[in-house]
Amino acid sequence: MFTYDPTNIFARILRGEIPNKTVLETAHSLAFHDIRPLAPVHVLVIPKGAYVSLDHFSAEASAEELVDFHRTVAKVVSMLDLGPGFRAISNTREAGGQEVPHYHLHILGGRPMGRMVE
Ligand code: IMP
Repeated sequence: MFTYDPTNIFARILRGEIPNKTVLETAHSLAFHDIRPLAPVHVLVIPKGAYVSLDHFSAEASAEELVDFHRTVAKVVSMLDLGPGFRAISNTREAGGQEVPHYHLHILGGRPMGRMVE
């Protein structure tokens, strides 16, 4: 059901073909600063495995990968002093606004994020 395109930009970052500003790297995950930040802190957390989206990752990742990913999120929150509050978003597929087809969680903070209204 899920087809992964290994030429996507995050796959290239994981292969070391494109530089990134790493916040934290673990066995199964990588956290790095977004190149076009929408808040004072804007970090992307991605699994190293070939998952296209949140629902793909949630359905098919191993327990070890799932735990590693979420522990990475928690460590990033702590490292970047996001304790007062932050927003975590995963745009999913074209209609959900996803541009890069490798699962990533946006973590935005460093200012009051307000309520999500359209
Ligand atoms: P999406 O719309 O949820 O897929 O978000 C993709 C995000 O990746 C955007 O916020 C981009 O600014 C970000 N992005 C694209 N290329 C790079 C890069 O090379 N390094 C860091 N972030 C990137």
